Amino acid sequence: MKRILVTGGAGFIGSHLCERLLKEGNEVICLDNYFTGTKANILHLRDYPYFEMVRHDITHPFFAEVDQIYNMACPASPVHYQYNPIKTIKTSVMGAVNMLGLAKRMKARILQASTSEVYGDPTVHPQPESYWGNVNPIGLRSCYDEGKRCAETLFMDYHNSNQVDIKIIRIFNTYGPNMNPNDGRVVSNFIVQALQGKDITIYGDGMQTRSFQYVDDLVEGTVRMMNTSDDFTGPVNIGNPHEFTMLELAQNILDLTGSSSKLVHQPLPQDDPKQRRPDISLAKEKLNGWEPKVHLREGLTKTIAYFDEILAGPDPYAH
Ligand code: NAD
Ligand code: UDP
Repeated sequence: MKRILVTGGAGFIGSHLCERLLKEGNEVICLDNYFTGTKANILHLRDYPYFEMVRHDITHPFFAEVDQIYNMACPASPVHYQYNPIKTIKTSVMGAVNMLGLAKRMKARILQASTSEVYGDPTVHPQPESYWGNVNPIGLRSCYDEGKRCAETLFMDYHNSNQVDIKIIRIFNTYGPNMNPNDGRVVSNFIVQALQGKDITIYGDGMQTRSFQYVDDLVEGTVRMMNTSDDFTGPVNIGNPHEFTMLELAQNILDLTGSSSKLVHQPLPQDDPKQRRPDISLAKEKLNGWEPKVHLREGLTKTIAYFDEILAGPDPYAH
């Protein structure tokens, strides 16, 4: 049994990770400021005697005796991370410094949830880890993209200068149950719109692409990465290499919900990447043959069932 800290544990991905780690018999401390997460995502875990919830903001130092740290805290949807861009970059940069300081003091292993956004609007396709990216440093997405890039730099520098035991994963678009219905990301938007019979909002011509990963596949890759040998720090891409246009995604969601919502086009946001697909060769090699198992329609079916239930009850994000 390990004592594991999960920052952002009440969020979409963090809540699945907490559950997985508890099921494996670990003690889990879930730390969250509930900006985009909700206690509703983790309430069902209260029955595990070795589960603790702590309200805390990672821009402030935090101390606990832990063996491992998964640093997942950061708003991930463009709508939320652009709401207060200065806070977003503080979360990535000051949060990384605080969590790396904790890891150094405790001699704990620490994993950073980085992102495919470090590749920006990529000119290399698919994206291998060796690609340095094409990021606008002064645009609307910069608070997130550059914050995550700086966090990667901090992780490598703490590793090289202070021998902190680090792991970096670059997560590609991930979806599944426990997403916030008002999150603003494409999968949640399209499903909620389809279920409510509202227009499906396609930004731009809908020909931009993304590669969508179901959350269970991500959690499997993340836990495997945390438990790789000391000499492998990453960064490693964790994503599903099947690529879809936003129009194809919308069509799949219309089919699966049986909705008659209409597609409407709205302006494409600034610096919206045109294409994105992970090269997962390194993950397969280093993570014991890991690769995503859940096909888009199978994952969407489970996610639609979740949103159907959430929309029928009281809003878990209301307070
Ligand atoms: P999310 O918004 O659902 O979860 C983030 C959690 O972090 C929330 O519970 C939020 O309240 C918490 N949080 C935010 N700022 C905090 C702070 N300063 N202190 C403490 N807690 C804070 O997002 P998610 O999709 O679960 O993303 C989790 C992590 O994975 C993020 O770091 C994100 O950048 C990364 N990621 C996600 C995706 C994706 O497609 N979901 C893709 C790439 C990277
Ligand atoms: N998008 C869209 N309609 C929406 C929300 C998003 O067409 O209602 C598009 C968005 O412009 C982008 C893609 O879907 O091209 C993925 O957007 P998301 O915010 O989910 O993730 P990211 O852009 O960060 O990959």
